[in-house]
Amino acid sequence: MRSEDTVFQPHYAVRSLQLGYLSPSRVPEAGALLVIVHEGQVLVDDRHSIFFPFASRQIPATDPVVGIGWVDDRPCYVVADPGTPAQPGTRFVGLRELFNHVDEESLGIAGRAVQVTEFLATRRFCGRCGAATALADHELSMVCPVCGQIEYPRLSPAIIVLIRDNDRCLLARSPRFPEGMYSVIAGFVEPGETIEHAVHREVQEEVGVRIRSVQYWGSQPWPFPNSLMIGFTAEYAGGQIAIDNREIEAAAWFGRDRLPRLPGPTSIAYALINDFLKEGR
Ligand SMILES: [Zn+2]
Repeated sequence: MRSEDTVFQPHYAVRSLQLGYLSPSRVPEAGALLVIVHEGQVLVDDRHSIFFPFASRQIPATDPVVGIGWVDDRPCYVVADPGTPAQPGTRFVGLRELFNHVDEESLGIAGRAVQVTEFLATRRFCGRCGAATALADHELSMVCPVCGQIEYPRLSPAIIVLIRDNDRCLLARSPRFPEGMYSVIAGFVEPGETIEHAVHREVQEEVGVRIRSVQYWGSQPWPFPNSLMIGFTAEYAGGQIAIDNREIEAAAWFGRDRLPRLPGPTSIAYALINDFLKEGR
C-alpha cells in the first residue's frame, strides 16, 4: 500500500470542478451555471466571475449549449454566444487577460469552455466525407452520421523542463518573448515519441546540452490554444550550450541571485523556476 506522502499531489489542482460531459439533449436546470463564450473570449461580471446563473439569462434556442461538468456540484454549461451586446457590468475578456484576475480553477474552467466552443465551431462537418456532424450523447465528441468518423477536441501535449546544475539553472529565450525575458525549455511532443523522449530531444535541439535524472514535476492545462504543459526537472549531464538560432535566440546559465526577467507567475514555467529558487533559501 502506498503511504500518504507518496501519493502525487498535483501542483495545479482543480478542486471544485468535476470534469464531465452533460449530454446535449439535457436541458440546463434552474440551478445550473453558465460560462458564456464569444469568439474565444469569456463573459465576466464586474467582480471577474465567469459564472452566470442559468436563470439570469435568456438563451436563444439556436445557441449551442454543452455541459462541461459540475462546479461545486452544480451543473455547468458553456454557451457559444453569437455576439449579444454585453449587459451593463459585464464584458468579454480574452483568456490571457483573465490570467491576471481569476484563480487557477476559474482559469481552467474558462480554458475548457473556450476550447469546447472552438471544437464545436470547427468540427461541424466531417473531415472525411463532408457530411454535417452531430454532438455525441455520451462523450465530448462530434460524430459523422454518414461514415462514422469521430472527432475529439484537439489537445497538444508539450514538455517543459528546468535544467539545473547545482546552484544554477539553464534558461533560454525565444524571439517571440518580451524583451529580456528568459524561460525554461519547452516544446511539443511529436507523433510517435514518448514524453520522456521529447524532453531529451527538445533539450538537445534547443540548447545542445545533455541531461540526466529527468523527473516528472507536474502539469498545467495551457489553453493557448490547446496545449497541456507537462513539467519536468533534469540535471545537467555535460556539453556546451549550442542554440538553434531558430526557436531559441539566446540561452545561458543563471544563478539564483542574478535571474533575468521571468514568465508570469501563473505559468508552470514560473512555478518550476520558483521551486528551484526556494531550494536556495
Ligand atoms: Zn463522414
